[in-house]
Formats: sequence, C-alpha cells, structure tokens
Amino acid sequence: MQFRTRAIHVGNEKCPETGAVVRPLHFASTFVQPGAGDWGEFDYSRSGNPTRKAFETTLASLEGGCGALAFASGMAATHCAVSLLNSGDQVVAGSDIYGGTYRLLHKVTNRAGIDVTLCNTTDPANLQAAITPATKLVWIESPGNPRMTITDIATCAEIAHEHGALLGVDSTFASPVLTRPLELGADIVMHSATKYLGGHSDLMGGALVVRDEELFDELYFVQNATGAIMGPMEAFLCSRGLKTLELRVREQCRTAAKLAAWLAAHDQVDKVLYPGLTDHPGHGVAAEQMDGGFGAMLTFDLKGDFDATKKFVESTHLFQLAVSLGAVESLIEQPASMSHASYDPADRAKHGITDGMIRLSVGLEAYEDLQADLEQAFAAVTG
Ligand SMILES: *Cc1c(COP(=O)(O)O)cnc(C)c1O
Repeated sequence: MQFRTRAIHVGNEKCPETGAVVRPLHFASTFVQPGAGDWGEFDYSRSGNPTRKAFETTLASLEGGCGALAFASGMAATHCAVSLLNSGDQVVAGSDIYGGTYRLLHKVTNRAGIDVTLCNTTDPANLQAAITPATKLVWIESPGNPRMTITDIATCAEIAHEHGALLGVDSTFASPVLTRPLELGADIVMHSATKYLGGHSDLMGGALVVRDEELFDELYFVQNATGAIMGPMEAFLCSRGLKTLELRVREQCRTAAKLAAWLAAHDQVDKVLYPGLTDHPGHGVAAEQMDGGFGAMLTFDLKGDFDATKKFVESTHLFQLAVSLGAVESLIEQPASMSHASYDPADRAKHGITDGMIRLSVGLEAYEDLQADLEQAFAAVTG
C-alpha cells in the first residue's frame, strides 16, 4: 500500500465490537486480566494503551520501522533515546540541533557523566573527526533550525556504524512524507508530534521509531520505567492528523517553494534560506534525501536592523507571531528575539543567526493571501 493509504488504514482497523470506522478512544488506566499473573494484551496504560498503540502502529508503518513509541512531548522522546547511554559514553550532536535538545544534553544528560560534543554535521567530515570510541549515539537534525541546514543522513549513518554508534535523527521538520531516515540507515527517528504529525496546533506529543526489535525493547523499557507516555486524547488526535499528513505536507511545501522564490526576488530581502533553492548549500543532498518536496519551513534575511525585523514580524496578520511550526496555521517569528533568544549574541553570530532573520512556518492558507500578508508587512517596515 502507498504511504497515504497506510496513513488511513494501518492501525485504524474498524472497531471489532461495533463496526465503527473510527476506533473508540480508550481512556481506561487499567484493564481486567484473564487471570492472576496471566497478562492480557493490555494491563496498565503506562505500559500500553489501545489508542496510543493505534497511533504507534500507523507511524511505524509510515517510517518503515518495526515499532514506534509515543511520548508526552518531543523532548520526552529525545530524553528516552539519550537515556540509553551510560556514564562514560559520549553523544555527538549536530551544532544546529533544536534549542531544547541542546539544553537537555548540556544541562541534564551531562549530569550522568555523559560527554556531549557538538559538530557541524552539514559536512560529514566533521562528524568523522568528532567521533571517538566512547561515542554511543550520534544525534542529527535535517533540515536544521533556523538556517534550514541539510545533513546527509546516509553518510552519517555509515560513519556512526563504523564506530559502533547509533544514529538518531530528529526528523520533525521533514516529517515521514519527505524523509524516512530508517531507510537511509538511521537507527532511531524522533518526532515532535506537536508539529506536522498532529498538524493542528492542538496537542503536545513526541515519538521514537526504530527498525530493530532489540533496540525497540530497550527504548520501551526506558519509556515504561520513566513514564512520559502520550495520553489517549493526544494519540487519537495524532492518528487523525496522520490521515491527512501527506496532503498537508505536500501542499504546504508547494506554497513554501512559491513564497521562497518570490521572497528571493524581493528588493527588501537580503537572502532566503530554503533547501529547494538551487543556491542553498544543502540543495544537492536535500534533492537526494527528501522525497518530492523541500519542506514548508523557510528563513529569510530582511534588509533591515533588529527593530525593523521586530516590526515586520509584528505586522503580519495571517502569519501569526508564535514559535512552533508544522500546523495548518502559518506562523512567523524572529529567531534573534524568540526561538534563539537564549543564545548569547556571540553564539548567535557563530550560528549565523542574524538580527534581520525571519522564520516562517508555512501553513495551508492560500498562497495569494500569504503573499499579500507579507507584502503589507514589507510596506509597514518602510512606511
Ligand atoms: C518542537 C521541536 C522539538 C521538541 O518537541 P516538543 O514537542 O516541543 O517537546 C524537538 N525538535 C524539533 C526540531 C522541534 O521543532
């Protein structure tokens, strides 16, 4: 079955009791057992819940994994993955990782005696140089944030495996529609389900997907032991979100590509960072590892200072001023004052995050309306 057929049918078999085409939502915390010590399929909802299981089954199919685990948030999912490491181990992560992942690694994971090393993975030679015999996990993101940097997943998988390390990919920005890291050799795929999987800005969730049963069991053990599971309501909404995932992402990509081309030609724009543009440094790799689209996130540099940029992002109406991404509503933000405000200015400069930078999450509104919204914001800045 094709991706979008699986998104609708795998894990969503009709209710055996009533024939309902949509599975009922199971809020139960506990399940009656066939006998004492004789465990049924479900016993207690931290260990397993039918509604959560349905979402996990669909997502595993979409990523080409043997199983998926759903969490209370993306950070809970990442925390579970890094909890595989022991004292003395090392994690090597991309320098463009999500800010929350940076904080987790440097302020929590390191407390357990785990070394955290960052390197710019857009050139896999840097990973080759950073990896050591102690490295047990390599953690990358592609596209990265906010410069939409592209990392070659297949090459990173080879390097990690040569050194006996696992490769984990935070694939939140790409979604399984555009990139399926397990097919490229990655061991763990992580999603903030809060973004494209849910897709409607109405839930928090996360997920891990793997292709190896033994690794699945290890992660399941940690999830059950620590307890940061996705709730049934969120799982139900995620299952619903997956059914339209491909349609949403493909359309959002089309609109983003048109906006990127329009912005690149705009006289008030310095530079557009979008992997679909041929002048983007990651365009070649993105064309290989992204399936039929370059994502719906794009960043551009306004010709203007911090205040002009602040004014721009405060002047749009359809593009709402908010962090997060991946939903049907378009969002706008200024990385220097919002998503990357916690970096000190020197660090921001080092990461290429300028004061004039604006990040867009392109939603499902009509292209013409989104373009007009940006045009009036350009006018507001000059006028
Ligand atoms: C949002 C996000 C996360 C964290 O997910 P939460 O659901 O907010 O915990 C991790 N990685 C990326 C790329 C994200 O965009």
